[in-house]
Amino acid sequence: MSDKQITVTSPLLPPLDEFFSYLEDIWDKKWLTNNGYYHQELERALCEYLKVPYISLFTNGTLPLICALQALRISGEVITTPYSFVATTHSLWWNGIKPVFVDIDPQTCNIDPDKIEAAITPKTTAIMPVHVYGKPCNTEKIQEIADKYGLKVIYDAAHAFGVEVGGKSIIDAGDMSTLSFHATKVYNTIEGGALVCHDEKTKQRIDYLKNFGFADETTVVAPGINGKMDEIRAAYGILNLKYVDRAIEARHQIAIRYRRELRNVSGISFMEDMPGVKHNYSYFPIFVNAEQYGMTRDELYFKMREANVFGRRYFYPLISEFSTYRGLSSANPENLPNAYRMANSVICLPMHHALSKDEVGRVIEQVKK
Ligand SMILES: *Cc1c(COP(=O)(O)O)cnc(C)c1O
Repeated sequence: MSDKQITVTSPLLPPLDEFFSYLEDIWDKKWLTNNGYYHQELERALCEYLKVPYISLFTNGTLPLICALQALRISGEVITTPYSFVATTHSLWWNGIKPVFVDIDPQTCNIDPDKIEAAITPKTTAIMPVHVYGKPCNTEKIQEIADKYGLKVIYDAAHAFGVEVGGKSIIDAGDMSTLSFHATKVYNTIEGGALVCHDEKTKQRIDYLKNFGFADETTVVAPGINGKMDEIRAAYGILNLKYVDRAIEARHQIAIRYRRELRNVSGISFMEDMPGVKHNYSYFPIFVNAEQYGMTRDELYFKMREANVFGRRYFYPLISEFSTYRGLSSANPENLPNAYRMANSVICLPMHHALSKDEVGRVIEQVKK
């Protein structure tokens, strides 16, 4: 079969001819990085789009995690989820912090708030949850626990661009939230990311941290890093922001069709929209019950690949299984039964703005037969 390859994602690219005029302007201005015109403009535009007061742009989505931990002076132990992209836990490791894994809620794949308290020790200083697949965590319950024990909360919101609960931005929750604008995400600046906070002083500190700690020409206030976004990607980001709503709506239509056509496939389950939530349809995970479906997850995954349909086993393996982390006592599989069950049954189906009706049909056909 020579059907065209269907990939799990495809980057949202702004029209090239529109981008040229931005490039010409940058060439004219000869200001390429260090809080330039487009950098400031994109921070403003994102604050408005995402309904948050303060955003600091970064050159990727991992440095804001690392810098959030620095800015809040987190140390000791941090409670987090094994069901995420490795960058979540790596950011703790880079700060010399011990990750403590807590199991997930199988309904949402997010950290189970009811299991957090049992993992708190005198060394615990923060909780780092992830809004997995853009599905909002139970931020109220997590905040209650954090307040009770005096813990900070940093959300890895890399999947949650534009997600709102009751009209309120999800990335406004906790002490800070981080975003990724990597090429594979709903909204991209090729590589890029951001850190969201609630007050000007914190934003100032973050801006110092991402620029080597420079407060002015001759003053270095902290051991900062270089996390700055350049003008070219900031301009690209301003342009892409104009197209992201359309892209999310295209994803929404695909999610509606996947759900309609896969609803009665025995052994296949998926997540529904949550009441009062504006979703971004960043991923479409399905979960394979091998006994009912008559095939294991991996059998289906490789069968799809043979037909040139590339899903992704996302998140498999769990972060807690990687060599850096598997020696931790909280990485014991007995501590993480739901995370293991979901990681061993998940396939994220192809999901992006540019999938054609035929291509969506081919994906559905693979899962159905
Ligand atoms: C993509 C992603 C990141 C890291 O983002 P980069 O921009 O690739 O550095 C962090 N956490 C999660 C959950 C992600 O999906």
